[in-house]
Amino acid sequence: MATVKVKRPKLYWYEHLYLPAIFKGLVITFKHGLKAFRGKAQGSKDLASSGLGVTMQYPEQKWDDQLPDYYRGVPALVTDEQKRERCVSCQLCEFICPPKAITITPGEIQSDDPWAKVEKAPQAFDIDMIRCIYCGMCEEVCPEQAIFLRQDYAMTGTTRDEMVNDKDRLYKIGGVREGLVNKWNELK
Ligand code: SF4
Ligand code: SF4
Repeated sequence: MATVKVKRPKLYWYEHLYLPAIFKGLVITFKHGLKAFRGKAQGSKDLASSGLGVTMQYPEQKWDDQLPDYYRGVPALVTDEQKRERCVSCQLCEFICPPKAITITPGEIQSDDPWAKVEKAPQAFDIDMIRCIYCGMCEEVCPEQAIFLRQDYAMTGTTRDEMVNDKDRLYKIGGVREGLVNKWNELK
């Protein structure tokens, strides 16, 4: 097996002090502060009612409209346009999940089902949101584009059980995702 040696970059003495990095961070914070005081911060219209226009009055005010498309919120399962489950319960996401938040019980698609060739679908699929760290690894690893991090972020509950999203709730949060997944292709 080939071995690649990666050289550590040499740091100057002042880089060891981390002062330049701290200073750079402060400059960015200062810039954002200045922008907010001039009323030009992102979502400034929504925040105007808070006096200075820099504080959000949560939960009356929310950032939902300001969230970018790539925002990583609650992970959830999606169906296709015909309400078919995209997940084939391969368990790759369960395996890769760093805090072991996912628990899947694989199920078999019955032989009399028109899509029996797909073979598997999850019988049970739970994501424990107390454990989830919103890393997105499940989305990255999924071969069927069946699990996505959605824009929901307000997951609350008064018991540990309430914080576990079961299959029904995951599909409700996830909704529909359009686009071809090869397993539905007749020729495959
Ligand atoms: S987002 Fe990360 S932690 Fe959460 S379920 Fe997916 S892989 Fe696990
Ligand atoms: S969500 Fe994707 S990775 Fe996870 S079990 Fe289903 S098909 Fe496999």
